[in-house]
Amino acid sequence: MPLLSSLRSTAANQPVARNGLELTTGGLAPFTPDSISRAGIFETCANPQCRTGWLHLWRSRTRPLFEGRWSCSAECSEALIHDAILRELHGRTVMQPTHRHKIPIGLLMLNQGWITSEQLRNALDAQRRAGSGRLGSWLMRLFGVSEELVTRALALQWNAPVLHLDSFLPGRMSRALPRLFVDAFGALPLRVAGGKILYLAFEERMDTVLALALERMTGLKVECGILPGSEFHAAHKKMLAAEFPRVQLLEAAGETALSRALARQLERVRPAEARLIRVHDCLWLRLWKRRASAPLFPSEEVEDLIASVRI
Ligand SMILES: [Zn+2]
Repeated sequence: MPLLSSLRSTAANQPVARNGLELTTGGLAPFTPDSISRAGIFETCANPQCRTGWLHLWRSRTRPLFEGRWSCSAECSEALIHDAILRELHGRTVMQPTHRHKIPIGLLMLNQGWITSEQLRNALDAQRRAGSGRLGSWLMRLFGVSEELVTRALALQWNAPVLHLDSFLPGRMSRALPRLFVDAFGALPLRVAGGKILYLAFEERMDTVLALALERMTGLKVECGILPGSEFHAAHKKMLAAEFPRVQLLEAAGETALSRALARQLERVRPAEARLIRVHDCLWLRLWKRRASAPLFPSEEVEDLIASVRI
């Protein structure tokens, strides 16, 4: 079942944020006052195929801005969106994470001297017989191996830090990602440090595709790490209960139909900035309704659209 369909009911019930908590959006160039002041009647339409010519001089249209660029009409917005869709689906600008062979966690713990070979054998047997459960959980359950050691092993496996929950504010960090992604990809945006680094926690497997997408969307450097399982579960539950930006799910029959559908939303909201980023099998369009004078943004001013890319 496609991701969107399976999660549609969850996303449909999302509340819309009301309070004024803010998320640092970092160095997003399109939010600078300079880029906004350039938009307007003296701006050149960003669509290279624009046929409006000088007519747009008579249009009092300063928005929407898409990826920092102004379009003079709904048709031109659609053309910009279409180019962005092609870039995200077929272009080479989207970085793909490199896959490295990972040492199995059991072997890693054995090498560290944290478990014996007999414990590893028994835990693997138990896991095989049960047909479920993570090896680390079986080691904890059968032999009292500490969660801390399992977490350290996972961090070593991924060559990533062990993160902590200090300063974690679910109601603030729910601005970073749509609830659908937090839920479906098991990710937990923990905090923004110094207005530049966003810490993204995972329980066991790190989703580097999501991390790269988040980095492109927010302009922040995203650092991934592992959070101990028990802490992750509790915090993830709190996060899912927080208020998220409004989201709409879209499905379209092809790239052209999708461009039209997304452009319609761009024209409806007329955002001060918008960006389109691919995340696994989804295209994520984020619309910022007003420009930020500082890199802080209340979530009621943000709207997300998520579309399936299986088109
Ligand atoms: Zn135009």
